Amino acid sequence: MPRTLVTGGAGFLGSHLCEYLLAKGHEVVAIDNLSTGSISNIEHLQGQNFRFIKNDVTEYIYLDGDIDYILHFASPASPMDYLQLPIQTMKVGAMGTHKALGLALAKGATFLLASTSEVYGDPLEHPQREDYWGHVNPVGPRGVYDEAKRFAEALTMAYHRYHGVDTKIVRIFNTYGPRMRPNDGRAIPAFIPQALRGEALTVFGDGSQTRSFCYVDDLIEGIHSLLVSDYHEPVNIGNPTEMTIKELAEAIISAIGSSSKVVYNPLPQDDPKIRQPNITRATEILKWQPRYTLQEGLAKTIDWFKQLPEFKALAGANR
Ligand code: UDP
Repeated sequence: MPRTLVTGGAGFLGSHLCEYLLAKGHEVVAIDNLSTGSISNIEHLQGQNFRFIKNDVTEYIYLDGDIDYILHFASPASPMDYLQLPIQTMKVGAMGTHKALGLALAKGATFLLASTSEVYGDPLEHPQREDYWGHVNPVGPRGVYDEAKRFAEALTMAYHRYHGVDTKIVRIFNTYGPRMRPNDGRAIPAFIPQALRGEALTVFGDGSQTRSFCYVDDLIEGIHSLLVSDYHEPVNIGNPTEMTIKELAEAIISAIGSSSKVVYNPLPQDDPKIRQPNITRATEILKWQPRYTLQEGLAKTIDWFKQLPEFKALAGANR
């Protein structure tokens, strides 16, 4: 039975990974400092072959016994979170990645880094292929996340080349699904609660900026395919179906059958104008491609939001 460590294991993606790996027969240890993650994301895993350690991976990681896989997912990940936690974001991308790689080296474990489409910044090439070096403002407010992840990628490749650690890098594009925090500031977990309450959806800018949204179950499948592959270069995992944020807002209003309107608020600084993954590498090397349409993924996500205590009473009220 493989033994696996997931840093950030109480977060949105981390908790889905823990659940998936347990179902695949792994023994799973999750580490999280709970700065943006939550015990409620993992409490259903207690009683399985699962252990949670509350710890900050920028400090030190100590773990008894063998470890086969380390998946480094600890980091604030929504623009609002990393703007509020800029130094912690840089520390977990830099020092946290160093500690996690050091542990992988000591244990002879395979290491997988959660990187991001943000390494491409506000891209000048479209769609983004993995060999595009990106267009990042290092000193802008988003630079703390983008540069931390770019450093983390460079450090991962250095451990691979210099120490021979078996490393993988996944560049994660916008992902959504159950367990996103309703207040994390990202578009989908902002719009669904707004539409459920009948409030206006807060589109930033004129809503013409684009994103490509991947349902979480597809993403987790792609990450697992990469983990068990022998590929070391970065791989984009995301859903290439691109849309404007205005279209996304309209799709959510219609999926909920809400009476909400759209309001236009100022666009945050350095907000990328376009984003779409080229997934040729993932389809050819990992034989992976996303399966959920936006409508299917939104339906599951909306159902999850509706069962949260704060939305239960509202379900159906705005139809
Ligand atoms: N966005 C928006 N309203 C919101 C939250 C986000 O219009 O309440 C926009 C945001 O400016 C960006 C897009 O939606 O253009 C996706 O934002 P998100 O924070 O979900 O992800 P990221 O910017 O990291 O792609």
